[in-house]
Amino acid sequence: MSEPDTSTTMLRRSTRRVAATLPHVALDPPGASKALRRVRTVSKSTTVADEEQLDINPKRPAKKAKVEVDAAEEDSRESRRKLTSKVRVTDEVDGEEVIETKTKRRRKKKDVPELEPTLADFAPRPTNAWKLGAHVSAAGGVENTVVNAASIGANAFALFVKSQRKWTGPPLTEESVAKFKSRLETLQYSPKHILPHGSYLINLGNPDDEKREKAYQCFLDDLKRCEQLGLHLYNFHPGSTVGIVSAETSLTHIADCLNRAHNETSSIVTVIENMAGAGNVIGGAFSDIGGIIRQVDDKSRVGVCLDTCHMFAAGYDIRTREGWSAMMDEFDAEIGLQYLRGMHLNDSKGDLASKKDRHENIGLGFLGLKTFHHILVDERIQNIPLVMETPQYDDNEVWRKELEVLNRLSGLSISEEVKTKGADLVSWTDEIQAVVKAANAAGNKKGAKVVQKKTKSVT
Ligand SMILES: [Zn+2]
Ligand SMILES: [Zn+2]
Repeated sequence: MSEPDTSTTMLRRSTRRVAATLPHVALDPPGASKALRRVRTVSKSTTVADEEQLDINPKRPAKKAKVEVDAAEEDSRESRRKLTSKVRVTDEVDGEEVIETKTKRRRKKKDVPELEPTLADFAPRPTNAWKLGAHVSAAGGVENTVVNAASIGANAFALFVKSQRKWTGPPLTEESVAKFKSRLETLQYSPKHILPHGSYLINLGNPDDEKREKAYQCFLDDLKRCEQLGLHLYNFHPGSTVGIVSAETSLTHIADCLNRAHNETSSIVTVIENMAGAGNVIGGAFSDIGGIIRQVDDKSRVGVCLDTCHMFAAGYDIRTREGWSAMMDEFDAEIGLQYLRGMHLNDSKGDLASKKDRHENIGLGFLGLKTFHHILVDERIQNIPLVMETPQYDDNEVWRKELEVLNRLSGLSISEEVKTKGADLVSWTDEIQAVVKAANAAGNKKGAKVVQKKTKSVT
């Protein structure tokens, strides 16, 4: 296509290239430059199943292809004539651009250099001490997670370092690793606030030696990837007895795997997540997690991530300040507050002690916004990643709104809440509800599938 070779045009072309390689990222948050907003024209994603969305090494590029129809942005009449009959597709596997017409498909090598995003491309992020974020997509490469986090105003984030539903994956490329690191620096994220999530397949508590070894190798591979990326933390589900052995036996298997992994890696901290506690799953009770940690040799290499939905489903009633305090007291007694390295902030679709691992958007479940208010005034959870795993929508407006409201809560004292009799909390919940409703009406929802599949994750 022909375009005048001005710097503005180069920026537009290059930014479009960034947008094309970051399928579910809006690069035009409020406050973004006008030039950036102009390049985000009509953009339509094909509908993808959620596991494919989170799958960082898709095998089915055609389904995951990002389609952009961008006729409106071309200046020259000639270009406009050409583009109205073409659809631009970026292949997420190799980044090559494919120009499709109704009758033919041909490949064209990259001819413009990528423009790396800068801090100025995104709306300024909140500056409080509660590091809030979300589990963002790694589609197209782990390096895209950093941009995805910045685009929703997150100060912390989670990611999968390989497909969470496969035992193995292609190694991280040098280019991916270098870009991930440079983007962390450019977009000002500390590895302290990044909490990668392990594969759902891993069960280090499995009494079957062969199956446990397979899980361990997948686990070790994840840990090595994290170290390659310069990350400090790695969050995983403790596992399950699979109904064959006692919980104590599984706790020892898990601790043995951790000791082995700590010897085979250099610095990564393995962070155990509390679970909803259904069936044979380990980690519903804090005593399970304490039981693992007691058997870990290098205590500096182990930590805990508290999931609000899981703890509520497991029977910890944190809906009141007193309940939250009592939970934290039990955590301290059974595990030790010094081990708290991160949290997952999720509302719950299941009621107290339901044992259901079903995440809901913030404020819209059984926990309600009030719960997150007394969580987000607790200084003990400052400066650790606080990551939402709430239902996700295509345009990420829901996550942006949830983060905006959570950040407001973290700046609101308990006495202020009492003074307003919770009126703010009601209207802020309505704000989230309205954005969720709009996203549902637009047919953007893809969260339900994630939650249902997570429930089945460890058996
Ligand atoms: Zn988890
Ligand atoms: Zn979680």
